[in-house]
Amino acid sequence: MQANNNFETVLLKYTNNKSYLTHQELISLKSQFDSEQAFFDALLKWVSEYAIAPVSQFKVAALAIEGGGEGRLFFGANLEFSHQALSLVVHAEQSAIHNALLHGVDAIEKLVINASPCGYCRQFINEIQLDKQPLINVHGVEKTIQQYLPDAFGPSDLDNQAPLFSQSLTPCSDLNKYVKQSYAPYSGNFSACQIQNVNGHKYFGVYLENAAYSPSLSPLQAALNQVQLHNRESGLQGISEIVIKQTKGKANQIGVANAVVMSLGSNVKVTIEEV
Ligand SMILES: [Zn+2]
Repeated sequence: MQANNNFETVLLKYTNNKSYLTHQELISLKSQFDSEQAFFDALLKWVSEYAIAPVSQFKVAALAIEGGGEGRLFFGANLEFSHQALSLVVHAEQSAIHNALLHGVDAIEKLVINASPCGYCRQFINEIQLDKQPLINVHGVEKTIQQYLPDAFGPSDLDNQAPLFSQSLTPCSDLNKYVKQSYAPYSGNFSACQIQNVNGHKYFGVYLENAAYSPSLSPLQAALNQVQLHNRESGLQGISEIVIKQTKGKANQIGVANAVVMSLGSNVKVTIEEV
């Protein structure tokens, strides 16, 4: 059975300024399909339209399914910036993992992707605590991160005893609390970002570091990605204010913030504070 036309209409209703599906919504939508994979494929196609990919034109979607807890399904999509270094892009897998973490998810059971994870994302996923690492589903074939990344370099190589997801975040609307809950075991630069749009909605992003450093997700990239995942039609348009807070003496977010903000246009007010 093909999904009926109702699928997209219902999805649009479920995702009004919301970047995930509740378990009930997931069950309801899945019931329109003959198999779970058919549901995943249809949903990946729909979520890929959140992608902003002016450089590659390659739209990647990822679905992070919460293990235990509330059984929610979190969206992820790639984000590229025109006329900026390619290293500033957010990959769909990073997007889905940050989205889940930000909403208090304790563990991701399964990560469903519409393309094989790139090396950068394999390294990012490897940052997750061993007993909480998700099964990775690509076109219905499921593998562990150890299969995708054998002989990996990870948190234990840097004596990090508390890898990603060893603690779940408490969702809130307080930037200072997000700074404290960010993941910076290597640099100590705990940092988070708050973005407000012209409608008064606030979006947050927390810094997520990586043992291999380069795949780290900056708080500004993470918060911009949240704006994108909450606003399917308008994307990053309508941003009015950006605030980044970071640990005094360990600051390293200014350069990346300035580079990203330049690509958004000049009407955005940016404040960077050290706490
Ligand atoms: Zn990737």
